[in-house]
Amino acid sequence: MLKLNLQQNKNLNELCTFGIGGPARFFVEAKSIDDMRHALQLHRELDVPYLILGKGSNCLFDDRGFNGLVILNKIDFLERNSPEMFHVGAGYSFSLLGNQTARQGFSGLEFASGIPGSIGGAVFMNAGANGKETCETLISVDFLTEEGELQTLKKEELHFAYRTSSFQHMPGAIVGAAFLLTPSETARAKQMEIIAYRKKTQPYNEKSAGCIFRNPACGHAGALIEQSGLKGLRVGGAKVSELHANFLVNAGDATSQEILRLIALVKQQVKEKTGMELESEVRYIPYKELFSNKLGNWIA
Ligand SMILES: Cc1cc2nc3c(=O)[nH]c(=O)nc-3n(C[C@H](O)[C@H](O)[C@H](O)COP(=O)(O)OP(=O)(O)OC[C@H]3O[C@@H](n4cnc5c(N)ncnc54)[C@H](O)[C@@H]3O)c2cc1C
Repeated sequence: MLKLNLQQNKNLNELCTFGIGGPARFFVEAKSIDDMRHALQLHRELDVPYLILGKGSNCLFDDRGFNGLVILNKIDFLERNSPEMFHVGAGYSFSLLGNQTARQGFSGLEFASGIPGSIGGAVFMNAGANGKETCETLISVDFLTEEGELQTLKKEELHFAYRTSSFQHMPGAIVGAAFLLTPSETARAKQMEIIAYRKKTQPYNEKSAGCIFRNPACGHAGALIEQSGLKGLRVGGAKVSELHANFLVNAGDATSQEILRLIALVKQQVKEKTGMELESEVRYIPYKELFSNKLGNWIA
């Protein structure tokens, strides 16, 4: 059996882009598929819930932390099975893959540039931007079941929709993914344009989890929040960004409770002023009450 370095009381605020959250009762890093298999076994032995964590860029941890096992996915290989095929570990940086592939003259993942998640998180969330989504160039996903069986699932066997994937209902861990890209002479220029626009329009250097609300079927959540006059609204250290209204930022020592209160307030005000219901995109990880890999709740 491989040895994992089981830690206790690991601060979660260091492992997420919001910079919020108390300690994880148990914590391990998985650097290989075998490590991940062992970590999933460990959760059964410890008899606690578990959470697979990528780069923590779409999670809101509770101030009390997480009363279970956090498994940090650091499986970060990159293989080329053919010139256009990129097979990557789920812990690999999605943004880096977007930059590297565009620089090498491949199109399909330019939009990933600047999305600070892991491949696993991007597949799980079906991350997207600039009219593109992760599932579009995806060929297959390597998935480890809770029982430790490694499966290669073809995209056709999976369901993807706006910020939704089958994995949101599947206990286990995404450990790798393969993407098929297209040679392009303009990919690098497009990717650089995307990153420049992001830096101009998003509070890139502040602590956030990206867009806090999903866009409604028609329109943009950010525009609704702005129309409702909520830019700059604060609850303690939690603030609606002045630059991009769909970003809530940790503007000081925000607590998870303050973020949750601000989310509720924004939803209520937008509903009153525009009649539209906003739905959150970020995943709130409660201190307890996680029963499996159902990793966090959408904030109601
Ligand atoms: C500045 C900023 C800009 C952003 N811009 C965008 C954007 O343009 N478009 C967009 O879609 N998102 C954006 N995001 C949100 C976020 O980066 C994406 O949702 C990203 O895909 C999350 O990846 P992650 O590795 O950080 O996931 P995490 O936050 O670590 O996890 C998110 C969820 O995925 C699950 N998960 C993660 N990895 C695995 C795995 N290997 N196996 C099983 N489950 C897993 C977790 O358990 C959790 O439930 C942005 C965030 C920030 C901070």
